[in-house]
Amino acid sequence: MGASGKQDFVIQNARTLYSDKTLDILVSNGLIAQTGSKLEAGDSYDAQGRIVAPGFVNIHTHLDKADLLSLMKPSDFGKSLEENRELLKKFKKNYTVKNVKERAKKVALEMLANGCTAIRTQVDVDSTCGLTSLKALTELKDELKQCVTLQTCAFPQQGVVEEKSRALIEEALKEGADLLGGLPLVEKGEEAQLQHIDILFELAKKYGVDLEVQIDESNDPRNFMLPILAEKTIENKMQGRVSATHCISLSAQSEQVAKETIKLVKQAGINVIVTPSANMITRFNLPDDVHSRPSNSITLVKELAEAGVNVAMGTDNIRDIFYPLGNSSMLREMHVLASATRMTRDKDPQLLTEMASINGAKIMGLNHGLEKGAPADLIVLNAKTPNEILNRTPIIPKIFKAGTPVSETVLDQNVRCLA
Ligand SMILES: [Zn+2]
Repeated sequence: MGASGKQDFVIQNARTLYSDKTLDILVSNGLIAQTGSKLEAGDSYDAQGRIVAPGFVNIHTHLDKADLLSLMKPSDFGKSLEENRELLKKFKKNYTVKNVKERAKKVALEMLANGCTAIRTQVDVDSTCGLTSLKALTELKDELKQCVTLQTCAFPQQGVVEEKSRALIEEALKEGADLLGGLPLVEKGEEAQLQHIDILFELAKKYGVDLEVQIDESNDPRNFMLPILAEKTIENKMQGRVSATHCISLSAQSEQVAKETIKLVKQAGINVIVTPSANMITRFNLPDDVHSRPSNSITLVKELAEAGVNVAMGTDNIRDIFYPLGNSSMLREMHVLASATRMTRDKDPQLLTEMASINGAKIMGLNHGLEKGAPADLIVLNAKTPNEILNRTPIIPKIFKAGTPVSETVLDQNVRCLA
């Protein structure tokens, strides 16, 4: 028994992402104490040669809106982004701490069962719902801390340029939101959008928080804020503390512009966050729009990663007004990303798993991995080789949070062909 009262135990017969050899992982006081062979403890779990990896990290989602679909009919959807924003407002007027928390909890636990031991959620802060969603998510963060690490990002759905909206965002940061989100697109006109970015940096520095800005969610090359965000990051000396989510239009630039931008992004230490499924059907380009080519609906993931940029992955919206699908599975997101970007090279299963796991943890500032001293936030994958991670039934047989089993899924192997 460790000092924390947690029983020491060993995960036996585990493979890692990087080696074909099996090893044992000794967990003590909820932390990884040692990896090696023939390790022993009072208790044990046999991984049966499966890959044991650090838990998935869903770095970008919207738990406050998640599963709103359960409260509506498909015919309720609007025909444009504006109509859907109005529809969302109707729901938000009826938000209570209790009903937001209930939906958020249901989907957070769904994410946990799919292997997420850490989640960063955007939380709408605006005049329609005020701080109700933030209160709900702050309560949930505490309630679930034994099984999942939650981070809350104050998301200015109505912008920050208008004095009243900005004051509300400051209120959210004082109330304990973990970081500041941004969405320049909600401001009217280019000048206000640039001002939005300046105010974000001002507030991030004032409250000492990281920034995550949603930009360039479009296949139109003219919507291109990434270079500006990178320059402002350097100017404000916030290298390493800023993330840019979506960055779709980077794929629509000429090779030369894309190359220069990626270099600048690397210099600025900007993390790039990709949300594959939602990006593929981004509502910011209507289906008949010439810029809605699926070929470039996702940012230049391979090129960014090859340049040394930290690229991480999130599910984005789950079953809500902006994205009606989603089962909270990071494995599914990995699969979509692999297909959409032709990431089918030998090394890609490892890269994709890192994007869904340790790269997101790096953004959240978590000690996450298989190194000695890291919390034993571990998932047992239904795979004995990296390739099988993408090619076998996407379940996570066992999940540990700080060494404690928190989820188990049993796959019935006795499938009988009736043909
Ligand atoms: Zn989002």
